[in-house]
Amino acid sequence: MPIKENIAAVRARIDAAARRAGREPAEITLVAATKVQTSQTIRQAIAAGITVCGENRVQEMCAHLEDNAYAGASLHFIGHLQTNKVRQVVGRVDLLESVGSLKLLEAVERQAAKLELVQDLLLEVNIGGELSKSGVSAQQLPALVEQCMRFEHVRLRGLMAIPPVSATPRGNREFFAKMYQLYVDIRTALGDNGRGVDCLSMGMSGDFEDAIQEGATLVRVGTALFGPRPPLHTGGTVDKHQ
Ligand SMILES: *Cc1c(COP(=O)(O)O)cnc(C)c1O
Repeated sequence: MPIKENIAAVRARIDAAARRAGREPAEITLVAATKVQTSQTIRQAIAAGITVCGENRVQEMCAHLEDNAYAGASLHFIGHLQTNKVRQVVGRVDLLESVGSLKLLEAVERQAAKLELVQDLLLEVNIGGELSKSGVSAQQLPALVEQCMRFEHVRLRGLMAIPPVSATPRGNREFFAKMYQLYVDIRTALGDNGRGVDCLSMGMSGDFEDAIQEGATLVRVGTALFGPRPPLHTGGTVDKHQ
């Protein structure tokens, strides 16, 4: 598996996209979306320079944790999380990227309080307004941001989005631009309290350069690093069931 070459190629594209946008390449973190990969592949990726792994499925993540597969890297949870699985994730990941409802936010706060820790998280925005996807609407977002500020055991770090699967190249630019605006609005509204809000997670293998152009600080890349996933797991889209 040419994982080392793939990482170098993706990193070079990230750096070039950053420079085109007048940004510092170091502002953008590559998150390796490791769903369906084995513990061994994850270890190889980390040995080859991956510093952040993003997991979608609680069960896979727990198995990899048991294998100690993420040693040497940070761990983000990027998939749809059911409230009844919060216990398996809170306190075990460095960043919970996919908090897309008040109910889930409350469950995360409760679990973090129980463990006496503070969980870093991103609020997921359903920027394309798709029924099949989780995430809050742009209208609901301010209320959730306020709730994050009231809770003592969560730390809001920013926003995450999975825009619709685009039929055309550049098709998601408008969604990425909207996300950037929401991100800036939150930082402005929070003033000094918003200093820790420094993450905007958007862009995948097919569109991470556009996302960087529009202000992404985290890009979640799977296929471009690991090759295509088996059809069973891709299903053509990345939705809440993944
Ligand atoms: C799988 C996945 C990715 C990466 O998708 P690729 O198209 O393989 O790069 C990014 N984000 C989430 C939430 C995912 O589930």
